[in-house]
Formats: sequence, C-alpha cells, structure tokens
Amino acid sequence: MVNESRMPEGLEGFGEFLVGMPPRMGMELVAGMLQSNGCPDANFDARELVRMVTGEDPYVRQDPLTEEEVIQLVTLAARRFERYPLQYLAGKWPFLNFEVQVGEGVLIPRADSEPVCLAAIEKAKAVEAPAVLDLCAGSGCLGLGVKKFVPAAAVTAVEKSPEALVWLKKNAAGALEGFSEEHPALIVEEGDAFTWQEGKAEESFDLIVTNPPYLTADEMLVLQAEVRFEPAMALDGGVDGLRFYRHIAEAYLPLVKHGGWLVAEFGWLQWEAVKAILEQAGWTEVTILKDLEGRPRGAAAKRP
Ligand code: GLN
Repeated sequence: MVNESRMPEGLEGFGEFLVGMPPRMGMELVAGMLQSNGCPDANFDARELVRMVTGEDPYVRQDPLTEEEVIQLVTLAARRFERYPLQYLAGKWPFLNFEVQVGEGVLIPRADSEPVCLAAIEKAKAVEAPAVLDLCAGSGCLGLGVKKFVPAAAVTAVEKSPEALVWLKKNAAGALEGFSEEHPALIVEEGDAFTWQEGKAEESFDLIVTNPPYLTADEMLVLQAEVRFEPAMALDGGVDGLRFYRHIAEAYLPLVKHGGWLVAEFGWLQWEAVKAILEQAGWTEVTILKDLEGRPRGAAAKRP
C-alpha cells in the first residue's frame, strides 16, 4: 500500500497504480496526465521527470518504480500539471554546453538566446583580454557563455532583481569549471540598467551583451501558462517592449570602446525598430542575428 498521506491530494489512486510499474510505462501515464492540461511537450517533460526521480532514463532503466520514487514523481507531475515550469522543477537547465541553476525569481535560459551568445563570443574572441558587460544578466547565461569560450575575458554581470541576483551569484560561482564563491566567473553587481551607467568611465568595455526585458504590454497579457511563473520584471519591456533598447542604445554607447560591440537580444517582431534605435543613437554595422527557427532575434552593432 502506498503511504497515502505523502501523495498529493487527489492523486493517491494514480500513485498506487504506478508503484511497481516499469519506468517507461510510468512515463507514458504521466505524459497523458500532463497532456490533459495542455502541457506542451508532455512526452519530453514526463521523460525528464522520471529521469529526475530515478536518476536514469526511463528507456534504459528496467527496475520497477519504487514507492519512494512514485511519491516524488507524482508530486513533481502534479506541479507540472499546473504548468509550473519543468526547468524550475529540475533546478538547472542547459545553455550552450554548460548548465545554469534556475528557480523562481529568475528567467529561464532559452535556446533562442544561444545564437545571440555565440555572436557575442565571436566578437569577444577578436580582442585579447576583452572587458565585457552582461546587462540585465538574470541567470548569467550570456556572460557565462562568453567567459566559457573566452577565458581571458573579464565579465561584469549587472542585475537589478534581488531574487535573480541570488541565482546569478550561484551561477557565477558554480556553472563553469574552475570557479567558486571566492573566485567567481563573473563580477556580479546589483544595478538598474537605467542608472548603472551613471558615472562609469567612457570606453570601459569592448563588448556589451544584453537580453533585456522586451515583451510588449499586449504580450504581457497573453503569456504562456509556464511563463507566468517567471518574473515579470525580466519580461516587461514597456508598452512597445522597446523601453530598454532606447536607453541602452543611447546611454551605453559612450561606455563601449571605439570599434567595440553591443550584442542584444529582442523579440522577433522588433528587429526593424531596434535597428532604427541603434542607428539613431550612433551605432553602425548593425547586423541582425537569427534564432534557431530562423527568426530575427538579436543584433550586433559597432561603436564607430
Ligand atoms: N524570450 C522570452 C520569452 O519569450 C522573453 C525574454 C525577454 O523579455 N528578454 O518569454
């Protein structure tokens, strides 16, 4: 008999049914449960949940699910059923070829940001020991990507949200090999993008990389169920989603060395507006970067 008091309410029967089942069959049942509440990628998620609980892929592991594993699996599945993000349940998520820790209060790294990070890495590689700024750093994934592939880079990561800063500091200490709390991969600073630049020396950086909040007011009203669990502060870019670009394009240009670069992510419908904002502020050689689905998702721009 399953210890019913430890099963999420209403799922005691489901749990009892799963105990002793091959993990793969458990995965299929969990997938059906998630599907019934419209979870996108329910099969992928169910497989990940079983893997999180058993430590093994359900296609590999043959031993039947134990009661303890089922209690954990059903608890996680119930959370995911409510559309709570899989990434928060996992507590970590891959970005490029490393993992960052994530949880409530910080934006989850997206695969769409990887091409943006790769462009930043390419720009950083062209300088011997580049000074890099990751503005609105969140989990730190962009800055960490640069540090990982350009170890000589000195990367400063600026974040406003106290909740996100907790994750940023953890990742600066632990996401890349060879770093620690005493010797973090990133120089983490608490700061608001709208004021952080004040009093900073001209030409402090070879490169600024940023994924600022860029959703429009209309988009904020129709967020996907999972995204509602993520911090609005990391998403809300003002009425037209362009509030941060207007400021960054203008106020951060002097901080970049002549010949240095700004690499920024944005929403795929915003490329023309962002390009115009950048050019108006004096940036040149504006190149549009595409995401994994081929949509315009970022820009690289040079300070002449
Ligand atoms: N890419 C995120 C989303 O689609 C938005 C990230 C951001 O605003 N910087 O939810």
